[in-house]
Amino acid sequence: MNYPPRLEFRNPAQGRALQQRLQRAVDRAGREVTVMHVCGSHEQAMARYGLRSSFPSDLRVLMGPGCPVCVTDAPEIDACIALAAQGLRVLTYGDMLRVPGRALSLADAKAAGARVDVIYAATQATEIAKQSSEPVVFFATGFETTAVATAALLLQNPPENLQVLSAHKWVPAAMEVVAATADSQVEGFLAAGHAAAITGYGLFEPLVQRHQLPVVVAGFEPLDILAGLVELVELAIDKKAQVVNAFPRCVSRDGNPKALRALREVFELGDGQWRGIAEIADGNLKLRPEFAKWDASLTYAETLRSVAELPERPWASDCRCGAILSGQSEPSDCKLFGQECRPEAPVGACMVSSEGACRIWFEHGLDGHHRQRRVGPSPA
Ligand code: SF4
Repeated sequence: MNYPPRLEFRNPAQGRALQQRLQRAVDRAGREVTVMHVCGSHEQAMARYGLRSSFPSDLRVLMGPGCPVCVTDAPEIDACIALAAQGLRVLTYGDMLRVPGRALSLADAKAAGARVDVIYAATQATEIAKQSSEPVVFFATGFETTAVATAALLLQNPPENLQVLSAHKWVPAAMEVVAATADSQVEGFLAAGHAAAITGYGLFEPLVQRHQLPVVVAGFEPLDILAGLVELVELAIDKKAQVVNAFPRCVSRDGNPKALRALREVFELGDGQWRGIAEIADGNLKLRPEFAKWDASLTYAETLRSVAELPERPWASDCRCGAILSGQSEPSDCKLFGQECRPEAPVGACMVSSEGACRIWFEHGLDGHHRQRRVGPSPA
């Protein structure tokens, strides 16, 4: 029988060599080194392959604002619930269902009779709208990667009963906020390979120049992540502010021109609130005026304005999602972690999404000392 060639991304000898190089780099620094990745898929892969347990003890790899579900602000969810409450059919990606708004989640609204349906791709929203004579609201969430799918949908002239409520966010704007935070300890960023495949790694050059911090673009296989971290830690220790593309098989300097064109044609950057972090200048992707007839924020402006100032849940003040997403805390710093807050009964958004740091740490048995009670499949 012919077997497919061995996946070189998971070569154990190369993995060990990279781990040793990482250790040598941190030893050379002779101090704690702190870097941040900004992607839930990186955190998932680190947990799944047990990479954190192999990191040098003096290396802190923080998870920043890289979980799209986690950073969708509670009032954005409340707005969607308000539309569902007035009888509109709402379509959402599954991860958003259980994320708490200020009072309810979309799952709570659905249980109370609201018409909330899960879709798996933006194109499904168009199909559903075409089969219906009533308005259908697509709650469009996520970063650059899913925003491109929303843009493609709108460029195909969908039926006007399809209404898009955009809560899309633009990650580079949040990286700017982290880099500009006065007491930030972050010495460099590991950027997400899939988003950079769209935007190109050149996008990070102004940020690198402004803040004199390195950015390394990395893929998602264990060796991609280790190689990216080695590169990043060495640059950080040597204080070399530059962008390095450690994922050249997918990422180019200029990205995907067709996808970028679609993004720019449909969206413009606008200020927006990121859950638990801050109002971020140019952090949200808003529909351009040319797409006003599909823009639920305009069509239902009156309803959305009337979304009442709802009180916070009593336990919300103990949730440290904001500090985790801005790199100031780790999940195990939260006193609710694994106690009152668990995946089956999440308190904060970081415990809901499969890309949320708290959920990933809980499910993979991670604690704040890089120990891991159990790991997923071996990289071998
Ligand atoms: S463990 Fe739960 S309550 Fe604590 S920060 Fe994470 S999501 Fe919030």
